[in-house]
Amino acid sequence: MISRIDLRGSLPADLRDVLPRAELDVEAALEKVRPICEDVRHRGAAAVRELTARFDGVELESARVPAQALTRALEELDPAVRAALEESIRRARLVHRDQRRTDTTTQVVPGGTVTERWVPVDRVGLYVPGGRAVYPSSVVMNVVPAQEAGVPSLAVSSPPQKEFGGLPHPTILAACALLGVDEVYAVGGAQAVAMFAYGTEECPPATMVTGPGNIWVAAAKRLLKGRIGIDSEAGPTEIAVLADETADPVHVAADLISQAEHDVIAASVLVTTSVELADAVEKELPGQVAATRHGERITEALAGRQSGIVLVSDVEDGLKVVDAYAAEHLEIQTADARAVAARVRNAGAIFVGPYAPVSLGDYMAGSNHVLPTGGCACHSSGLSVQTFLRGIHVVDYSREALAGAAPHVCALADAEDLPAHGAAIRARFDWEVPA
Ligand code: NAD
Repeated sequence: MISRIDLRGSLPADLRDVLPRAELDVEAALEKVRPICEDVRHRGAAAVRELTARFDGVELESARVPAQALTRALEELDPAVRAALEESIRRARLVHRDQRRTDTTTQVVPGGTVTERWVPVDRVGLYVPGGRAVYPSSVVMNVVPAQEAGVPSLAVSSPPQKEFGGLPHPTILAACALLGVDEVYAVGGAQAVAMFAYGTEECPPATMVTGPGNIWVAAAKRLLKGRIGIDSEAGPTEIAVLADETADPVHVAADLISQAEHDVIAASVLVTTSVELADAVEKELPGQVAATRHGERITEALAGRQSGIVLVSDVEDGLKVVDAYAAEHLEIQTADARAVAARVRNAGAIFVGPYAPVSLGDYMAGSNHVLPTGGCACHSSGLSVQTFLRGIHVVDYSREALAGAAPHVCALADAEDLPAHGAAIRARFDWEVPA
């Protein structure tokens, strides 16, 4: 059901060559997505309607979800789901509120200061996927950091669902209503990203688009990046578990399965020092998979080349492997898990010990679940308040402070053969700065 890679002994020089990983050909999807984006750019709302009919099988009268539909969805929401969403929002707010930045002013010289002012982007379009599954949790994970960052204008877009009268899934609408988001569009895929990038008669353009999605969403983000700010391209989801002989194989198997449940191209990777644990997990998987609803999808994901069990000699080597892999989600299930977790350098989020499974982080830990995939955790972070802020340097120098810097500016301007730079300084005090 799941392949093995034996790295006991010496580790290869470039671990990334031997570790399992899904490949998503976003480049190939770009060609398909380009005409979609161009169409929305030139024909606006009419193009959005036609593309929605083609890709989602829904005839939209208007892309904008009426306010009554949001209110109704909240009224009709299952009370247990409402309580869970409210608690998820409360926990996420606690964490994301602590991420807020305060402006800092540094006195560089007497009379010369640089202030870093944190300013939220003006308007964000938040994409909430809704093709194969619905993700009200993604509404929470996108909206809460944007709100805590102080973004003044927020819109959500999610694919229309035929069985719900062409509106996004009611749980998504209810989550928007709970969060106070009243601008919601029933648009999915690349056309949603293009709608936010270019704007239409119905939807004003946004400064930034965030949120996970399928390959069409990722390709549209890559294509329109620059025209619009993006968070990341969020590829197929991943879990890596670093475990030793102290880990419980039932827990490890359950966590690998829970990630594989997302997608046939989701990756579940166990890195372990213990052959006994590897055997026990492998023995555990078929029974647990058979007992769960999405067994077929899970089996395909576990058997795929992106998933596997990696055997290592010791925890030291295990750390090298998980750092090279840079998982979106990394669980540490070893003795002294906190100490081991503290040594990890590359991961989107780290889940420490037996009582912090990834499912907790998906919904209720307070952490964000929109995280870097495909190894991007070695250079990028997940969605946070910071994603929606720009740090603007405000430079404030007095005449005296500039006079002190002038000779140095002129020397460097001359060294770079940019004499007009020096001249701009000299023009301010010809008589004080030697030419
Ligand atoms: P989606 O909303 O991303 O995409 C659905 C849309 O794709 C449809 O509305 C349709 O317009 C468009 N589409 C479908 N077929 C098309 C085609 N042939 N050409 C052009 N456009 C087409 O929903 P999805 O497909 O279910 O994918 C969601 C993805 O998001 C999954 O891969 C899931 O794992 C991922 N996800 C990631 C996170 C995360 O935090 N990283 C969270 C939730 C979901």
